[in-house]
Parts: sequence; C-alpha cells; structure tokens
Amino acid sequence: MPKRSIFLTSALPYANGAIHIGHLVEYIQTDIWARFQRLSGHEVVYACADDTHGTPIMLRAQKEGVTPEALIERVWHEHKRDFASFAVGFDIYHSTHSDENRALSEQIYAALKRDGLIEVRNIEQLYDPIEKMFLPDRFIRGECPKCHAKEQYGDSCEACGATYSPTDLLNPVSAVSGATPETRQSDHHFFRLSDPRCLAFLRDWALHSNRLQPEAANKLREWLETDESLSDWDISRDAPYFGFEIPGAPGKYFYVWLDAPVGYYAALARWCDEHGDTLERFISPDSTVEQVHFIGKDILYFHTLFWPAMLHFAGMRTPSRVYAHGFLTVDGSKMSKSRGTFITAQSYIDEGLNPEWLRYYFASKLNGSMEDLDLQFNDFIAKVNSDLVGKYVNIASRSAGFITRRFDGQLLDDARASSPSSDHALLEQSLVDGGPSIALAYEERDTARVVREVVALMDAVNEYVDRHKPWEMAKRPDDEALLHRVLSTTMRCFARLSILIKPICPLTVAQIEEEIFKSASLTWSDLDYPPISRLDAFRHLMSRIDRDAIDRLILANR
Ligand SMILES: [Zn+2]
Repeated sequence: MPKRSIFLTSALPYANGAIHIGHLVEYIQTDIWARFQRLSGHEVVYACADDTHGTPIMLRAQKEGVTPEALIERVWHEHKRDFASFAVGFDIYHSTHSDENRALSEQIYAALKRDGLIEVRNIEQLYDPIEKMFLPDRFIRGECPKCHAKEQYGDSCEACGATYSPTDLLNPVSAVSGATPETRQSDHHFFRLSDPRCLAFLRDWALHSNRLQPEAANKLREWLETDESLSDWDISRDAPYFGFEIPGAPGKYFYVWLDAPVGYYAALARWCDEHGDTLERFISPDSTVEQVHFIGKDILYFHTLFWPAMLHFAGMRTPSRVYAHGFLTVDGSKMSKSRGTFITAQSYIDEGLNPEWLRYYFASKLNGSMEDLDLQFNDFIAKVNSDLVGKYVNIASRSAGFITRRFDGQLLDDARASSPSSDHALLEQSLVDGGPSIALAYEERDTARVVREVVALMDAVNEYVDRHKPWEMAKRPDDEALLHRVLSTTMRCFARLSILIKPICPLTVAQIEEEIFKSASLTWSDLDYPPISRLDAFRHLMSRIDRDAIDRLILANR
C-alpha cells in the first residue's frame, strides 16, 4: 500500500471547563484512528488546540477575578494533562489565542474581503446597559414569543422548540447583570454566503464526493438543495470581547466560530515550525496530504458549510473528510451533574480507574456512524472483565511464565516447519487471515466490529490452550516438545492479538512489549510473523473492575 500523509484533527475543546467523558468519546475515537494509521506505516500529524475566545471565557475570567489570558493558560494545562491521562497522542496541542491563529485568521478574512465576500451591515441587537456590552443570544433570558414559557434563551425555546430572534423575546433580561436589555444598532461584518458562488461551490464540495458519511450528506442535502441561497454569516462581535480585533475595524472582533477552526491550521503551523516542515505542503490547494476532521454531529454545520467555504474562497485546500460521531449518554440518560454521571476525566483517573477500560469500551460501541452511544456501567464492567482481563490478558497469564520457567523464555520457531494442516499452524494462520478485515474496520472507524472480530480470535486462542492443556502436558516428560510448541504458538498468537488491539489499548500493549517481548515495537506488518524469539515473565498487566469503583466515581461527581 502506498504511504499516506494525513493531517488529522479533533474538535477544539472550549477553554472554560473540564474535559469530561462526553468529550473523551471523540478524542479516543480520533486517537485510535491515528494510532492505527501510524501502526500501518502512514504519516499522521494529529493536531488540536484549546478554543479560547468569546463572551463565555471573558465572563468566566471576570467572575474568577483573573484575566482571560490567565484563565485560558490554566485550562490549557488541565486539558493537556487530561488528554495525556487517556493516552490521546496529539502531535501538537496548541491554542487559538496564538500568533499563528491571529495571522491565519487575518489572512483568510483579507482574502474573503478581496473576493467581495465580506459585507458590513448595520443590525439591531440587545445591549446590557449596566455591563455595557452587547449580549449573545445565550446570555438573554425571557418569555418565548410562541408558547410564553418563561426563562427561555434568546435564540430558542426549550419548551416548544421554537427558534426566533432575541429581539422577539418577551420581557427579556440580561443573564449577566439582570438588567432589562436595550435594543441598539451596531455594524457587523458578514461572510456573504448568499453569494451564488458559495452555494455552487458547497453543492459540489459536499454532495458530489465521499467526503461525508451518508447521514451527514443527507443533512447537507436538506440545507443545500431546498433553498435557493444560504444566509449570510455574522462573523463579528462588538467590544468588550475576548478575541482578535478585526484589522481596520476598531472595536470589532472576529466571532469565536470564525477563528476556532482556523485553530486547526494554527496548531499545524506551530507543528511545522517545530519540525522544520512547511505549512504550504499541507494547506496549498494542490496538497496531496489528506485533511481529516473528527467532530461531534452538533457542529456539522460549521465544518461542512462555513469552514470549507472560508478555505476555498481564501485560496486554500478544503477538508478531504469530515467524520461526525453521536453523543454519549450514561445508563440511558443524558449526562447529569445531579446523578453524578457528568464524569470528569480527572475524577476518573483520581478514583484509580484504568483509562484503557474506557478506551476499550468506547471502541466497542463506536461504529463510524452518527448514532448516539450509551455507557452502561454494568455492561462496561462485564465487557472489560470478560474480554480484556478474562480473555486477552489471560492468554499471557497462562503461557508466558510457563515458557520462561521451562524453556528459558525461548520460543520454538517451528510454526512454519510444522505441517500447515496442524492445529498449531491453522490457529496462527487464522490470526493472519483476520488482519485485513480488522484493518478495514479500523479505517472505517467501525471499532465495534474491530472489537468483535478480535474477541473472536481471543476465543480461538483460549480454546486452543484449553484443548491442549499445557498444565497437564507439563507433567508428562514425553510431551516436552509438544508443550514447547503449544506455548510458542500461544505466545505468537498473543503477540498478534496485541498488534490488533494496540490502537485501542496502547498503554497495556506498550507494557507487554516492554516486559514480555523484550522491548519489541510491533507494527501491523508484523502480524504475518511477529519477530519474537525470546520472552520474559511479566508482572501485573490489568486488574478487574468492581462495581464499588464505579459507585465511588459517581459519588465523586455528585
Ligand atoms: Zn416556546
């Protein structure tokens, strides 16, 4: 297979709160895909950054009595720590509040302006006279103009589902100060998506290719084919605002959603600087690097309409693929603080739970679609204990110590010398033959299928051990040679299972490579015949989860 070069991203987490298990779905999904590609010999630059701008950050910093810069600095360290705890292996973790991001945002804005796609229009907006600021929709509460439900947001009603303009809200109140907002006028900068060129480009980009999942393409079809034109996009906000001031427009700032996706390129630019590479190689229109974005389905609109249009009309390449996933529920319900299911990454680690348990469980539920996935704690416990501990680790527990004591750790290199129809050779061959289908499932992000197929192979290896009963053979001196062969076959199969599961459980497999396989670094191409001739006994690999640990975790998050 020719070597691929892939620029890969996960969506940028917002810098005003902690990483929780709902976030982790996406980072774990992307990281598994990145690790699989690297294991297969491809080049991957996996980039991410904190999304740091906007009113919520500004207000949060005010509330804490710190500058926005100090707030985002602290959160950046927390996020970086949490991702590292779950073995999310970014090549670069940057910030949208960076020189690279300012320069790229200005560059894109200037190009759109040159192209006649920026328009300044005077609009009416609600203004908080006490805080002296224009209010974002989410910071206005009032009565729904349709159903008269109280305490609704400025953009939509949670009671009846209506969407409306904040100026339509009855008896509006500022959520910042409690004041009654005034209507004031202000000049805003718009990206003219209503320009016929935009619709023509996006129809071609989104609908006539395999860039999107079928479900996402259907959504796009609704947006792009029913209307004759798209609405213009308001890309500016008035001071006070934490963000980048628009060049030549004092007091006007880029809306956070303009510079957030540009943050992907800013992170990449930083990576290029650190690695002596050029950004051009990745972002020029004729780049041969694949650009792949993993996102949640809630931000499809930004990534499949605004972002490609910004890039295209700024003369840059557009994304090769955008993959959306669904949301996480816990035991069938939305994550909730009162139920203790709004579980932070940090609390999971603090309670002593193994991050690979969660990686494995999410992998077993993700199938590459936009469906929501449910973390059922009893299922989580059962799956980890049965598959990872009872089936996978158990194979090594039953054989590695044995072969170390009896045969000085030496593996018998006779799989190929023995008859191809022997059950030893057949077992080894079945793991080799399983590789391509599992590789395809990884590529398609169908890790649920990866897990099913790998577990079936684990079952086959355990059945082989049960059939031969090495612990009984060991009592019969005549069976010495056969015992050696069975143990060697088992451990070579264990090495293959380790390769197959390495993208999902990188920490456990790293420990296995280090302790059992004498610092081997196994790659996908080693599936055919793992280059292992000797092994060591190992210490403890993975324990079982008990329900008490989960109950403590839930309590810690109440
Ligand atoms: Zn309503």
